[in-house]
Amino acid sequence: MPDSTISDSPLPGLYIVATPIGNLGDIGTRAAATLAAADVIAAEDTRVTAKLLAHLGLRVPMTPYHDHSDERTRAALVARMGQEVVILVSDAGTPLISDPGYKLVRDARAAGRHVTTLPGPCAAIAAITLSGLPSDRFLFAGFLPNKAKARADTLAEFAALRATLVFYESGPRLAASLAAMAEGLGDREAAVAREISKLYEQCVTGTLTELAARYADAPPKGEIVVVVGPPGEQAAEEADEATLDAALVEAMADRPVAQAAKAVAKRFGLDRHEVYARALALREQA
Ligand code: SAM
Repeated sequence: MPDSTISDSPLPGLYIVATPIGNLGDIGTRAAATLAAADVIAAEDTRVTAKLLAHLGLRVPMTPYHDHSDERTRAALVARMGQEVVILVSDAGTPLISDPGYKLVRDARAAGRHVTTLPGPCAAIAAITLSGLPSDRFLFAGFLPNKAKARADTLAEFAALRATLVFYESGPRLAASLAAMAEGLGDREAAVAREISKLYEQCVTGTLTELAARYADAPPKGEIVVVVGPPGEQAAEEADEATLDAALVEAMADRPVAQAAKAVAKRFGLDRHEVYARALALREQA
């Protein structure tokens, strides 16, 4: 059951506070009350957080904080948590999620400080809820690497996972990333969620190749999350057993079993190991 308790005077310690990802109205009552009670806010960019504070009518001291802030900055914040309320915020959304903070939390824990979180907006979670794709099992993949080889290697690591995948993206990279995902993951169902909670919020769904084609000549503006459905389900409907077997027999005619299985698994978006096992069984029957 939700608990509506808001402590009048928070204990000294570290408070990880999620902030809106677009609509300032999404700041929670408890987040606002805790910000008001802070001794200092450790902010990714104090100018961005100043806008949120102005919206709330608050004046609270701030200090910049990044994971590449030096040890002394972090140690000073951890020391203050012994007697003061120190808040960690990022520019938008949940701190630590593709944002600074984990080293501060790690060091605060190591020093035995009180550490608590005020949950709230997170673009990855919001995009999953918008996408209409399976939400029971997902992997948050953050930003893909920029370079094509590193991007392909990263996608190859995810290809066999039976999970929805969530990527943060930017407009200029979107079409190339979608095409690389189609290549590396198979042509799965996906969603491009843009400008969540803002005026021009949009969620476009389709296969990865359809989406790559849609955005190839028209890179979208704004902030973007790509959600990619798990392998198999949609593919399995299209690739019934007979279709799969026929594809395997054809592929095995001109290449070794492992290569044939890999190609067929990729074509239908299926698990490589399962397809390989089926290929071996077919070969034995032949
Ligand atoms: N910590 C944040 C969170 O909890 O979502 C994410 C920070 S990460 C540096 C910023 C990325 O999140 C953006 O490049 C975009 O991919 C995604 N993002 C943030 N706000 C968004 C929004 N309103 N709509 C869609 N994507 C958003």
